Amino acid sequence: MAVAKGREPSAVLEAIDAGVRLIGENYLQEAEKARQLIDAPLEWHFIGHLQRNKVKKAVQLFSMIETIDSLPLAQDIEIRCAELGRTMPVLIEVNSGQEAQKWGLVPVKVRTLVQEIAQLPHIRVMGLMTMGPRVGDPEEARPYFVSTRQIFDDLKKSGIANIEMRYLSMGMSNSYHVAIREGANIVRIGRQIFEKQ
Ligand SMILES: *Cc1c(COP(=O)(O)O)cnc(C)c1O
Repeated sequence: MAVAKGREPSAVLEAIDAGVRLIGENYLQEAEKARQLIDAPLEWHFIGHLQRNKVKKAVQLFSMIETIDSLPLAQDIEIRCAELGRTMPVLIEVNSGQEAQKWGLVPVKVRTLVQEIAQLPHIRVMGLMTMGPRVGDPEEARPYFVSTRQIFDDLKKSGIANIEMRYLSMGMSNSYHVAIREGANIVRIGRQIFEKQ
């Protein structure tokens, strides 16, 4: 995934020309602008913190929302998607570092939320996303990727109906290589794509 936050549409277009087919956006306004200017067959994933009063717009703009961390948020998505007659694929955001100031759900609460969302017909859990703590050495991120992968595997084996554990979104510019080793199949890259190395 090319993470487009703060990038000019011209830079995003350049990335698309180079072969990018999955764009990540943190901000709805930015995404709306980009989508007006960029008319290519792409996947757009929302990766920012989603406020409940912005759900209506988000379900119109995105093909997946990667940052679900509460039942009320999921219920709002359910209502809006029911109105539109569509189903929204989502990932549960795991606060794998259990940091007080971070968005996302602490690991022990993930299974319960997944079970609750599985009851909602217009929203479909398709995996997990994690940021992990900000670290200097990417090796320090590894334990958080491993623990998120463990939750992912447990859910896959759980037999919960109406979920499909397919995507594990972890790793950024400095840590994607570690994340891939630990099972990520979406890596979210901003600086390494859009900035001079
Ligand atoms: C900005 C951002 C990224 C990408 O970070 P880089 O260090 O620029 O690769 C990935 N995921 C999320 C949620 C982000 O906000």
